[in-house]
Amino acid sequence: MINSWDIGSVRGIKLRVHWTFLLLPLGIFASAISSGTGLASALTSVLLVIAIFGCVLLHELGHAFAAQQFGIGTRDITLLPIGGVAALERIPRIPLQELWITSAGPLVNVVIALIFFAIQIIGGSGSSAVDQFFYQLMLANVILVLFNLIPAFPMDGGRILRSLLAFKLPYETATAIAARTGQLCAVGLGLFGLFSGQLMMLLVALFVYFAAHSENRMVQQQPSSVPPSSAEPAQPNSHRFNWLRENRFRNDGGVPSCLSIQSVAAWLTNQRLDHCQIIESGRVIGEVTRPQLTAAIYRGLGGVPVSRLVTA
Ligand SMILES: [Zn+2]
Repeated sequence: MINSWDIGSVRGIKLRVHWTFLLLPLGIFASAISSGTGLASALTSVLLVIAIFGCVLLHELGHAFAAQQFGIGTRDITLLPIGGVAALERIPRIPLQELWITSAGPLVNVVIALIFFAIQIIGGSGSSAVDQFFYQLMLANVILVLFNLIPAFPMDGGRILRSLLAFKLPYETATAIAARTGQLCAVGLGLFGLFSGQLMMLLVALFVYFAAHSENRMVQQQPSSVPPSSAEPAQPNSHRFNWLRENRFRNDGGVPSCLSIQSVAAWLTNQRLDHCQIIESGRVIGEVTRPQLTAAIYRGLGGVPVSRLVTA
């Protein structure tokens, strides 16, 4: 089954378009034609949408290139009708790295908007079709920046807030505060959607609310990633404590049996491991492999303790 098509690759990052993406230009073309605006105007609308998604792609490449600076690869970037997704191999828990990787996306759109703004200034804000096109593209990039900076997971703003808090607070506390802030934004957005009768807004609010909840749960349950290299600047005490705890955790070579299947799978992916041992009351009770965990998640057992899968 083909879900998405390869459209090329940049610096080893595969660029893909999900098939549902095609519905977007087709829908816009059909609605423009049916509203009687004429073929030229309909084609311009389609071209504008494609140009906007070009900017979304550059935004995702911004994240991916910033991640590469820290040796973090990106499996692929997929364009969907609702936006783009860059599948980073992992999100670093080092605040400065997360801050830079997350900010790089919106920064790309800021630069694009400034370029189009400069074109308007230099060329004079004429009323020709080309001027209008550039103006709308500039506006779209401003909206992309503002939307992405909403301080709620899974938007960039939520991660920026978390990384800023994590400079002073332990990672888990920073995530909890950022998630709560996101949920507060979601409630505000939901109420606005409800009273203004905008169903789409209500749906986005619900999505943001649950995304914040799951991001928080994942971080609180998930054993942390490998401790940073020695090049890492000195951390405050709380971080050092976490570092020691995580390190011991890792040397044990296993994960506690009470963790959910979902979080163990996420941890294995983070660590780039294929299997791990399961520890209960300080002793190894068995082993699980990544395919086993994936199969269990597909069967809807993601929330079940990993001890369920242990057969040894
Ligand atoms: Zn982004």
